[in-house]
Amino acid sequence: MEKADVVIIGTGPAGLQAAIHAARKRVRTVVVGKTAKSSAWRAHVENFCCMPHTTGQEMLIQGRRQAEQFGALFVDEDVVGLEKQDDVFLVHLESGRDLEARALVLAMGISRKKLGVPGEKELLGKGVSYCVECDANFFRGVPVAVVGCESAAVSGALILLFTASEVHLVCERLQVANTLAEKLRESAVQVHEGLTVIRIEGTDAVKGLVLDDGTHLPVEGVFIELGAKGALELATALGVDLDPESFQYILTNKKQETNVPGVYAAGDICGPPWQIAKAVGEGCVAGLEAADYVRRHLSKTAP
Ligand SMILES: Cc1cc2nc3c(=O)[nH]c(=O)nc-3n(C[C@H](O)[C@H](O)[C@H](O)COP(=O)(O)OP(=O)(O)OC[C@H]3O[C@@H](n4cnc5c(N)ncnc54)[C@H](O)[C@@H]3O)c2cc1C
Repeated sequence: MEKADVVIIGTGPAGLQAAIHAARKRVRTVVVGKTAKSSAWRAHVENFCCMPHTTGQEMLIQGRRQAEQFGALFVDEDVVGLEKQDDVFLVHLESGRDLEARALVLAMGISRKKLGVPGEKELLGKGVSYCVECDANFFRGVPVAVVGCESAAVSGALILLFTASEVHLVCERLQVANTLAEKLRESAVQVHEGLTVIRIEGTDAVKGLVLDDGTHLPVEGVFIELGAKGALELATALGVDLDPESFQYILTNKKQETNVPGVYAAGDICGPPWQIAKAVGEGCVAGLEAADYVRRHLSKTAP
């Protein structure tokens, strides 16, 4: 079995930054995951400090190179199981191989909930987006719609008022706190409650939304904000606690420690905002802390 000090699961911005910092501390660092499956892979990034125009793909390729230069090793596989055995963790890979680690960084990102209507998949990146914070700027002066009933959708709609020419919110039944509902009522967001989307129209770009009562909303952008879920099964199998409100994200402290000693988490899997800047910040802390944990652990077990 291949032995590592720190195994990082996830090769997105959080995992790569964790790898750079752990490897620079000269602990054996192995990163597991498939780079092209990072949500940053298809992103055009305009809001990352010091890089006004870049692509997620470029960042990920450079980030991996940087981590490799510091000695991190990469395994392009998915992890299918995690187990704690005495004072080490076993990382089961899809190929049937196992890795042994003294510390883990969980940086598996999230998967966004889909609407599942015609046009959604075809028009992704051509007017369909899952992230208001990321893409609001691309819809300056044009009409847009947000689909969703919870606080992410309502807050997203309010944010979009600053850029879009008009904002529609389509939602079966609003489920937000009174203060947010009040803000929404007082705003210029046009709420279509009790309705669902049946189709997103357009060929090369979004041209509109069709609702189940036949309403056609002539929008150029559709933000699907139905929430997201992290790849939590791997974490919960280790006994890692989730955030007590939504049970959708891993709970960490400021050192990115989970409740399980030696297990750290970073990036989207720890909750919103889903942003590269947050992911790399948390990745940095998790990588440094995981490396320190291993060093402390080694000095205790040294003969
Ligand atoms: C279309 C789009 C545009 C965006 N635009 C912007 C933007 O402009 N600015 C911005 O800041 N953010 C943007 N984002 C958000 C940004 O991409 C994410 O916040 C960021 O990628 C989160 O990094 P992460 O490392 O936590 O997760 P991810 O980048 O999603 O990486 C997760 C990694 O974990 C791996 N993984 C998952 N499960 C397993 C497993 N079982 N075994 C091994 N590996 C696993 C995946 O393969 C992947 O490598 C955008 C997102 C999208 C989808």
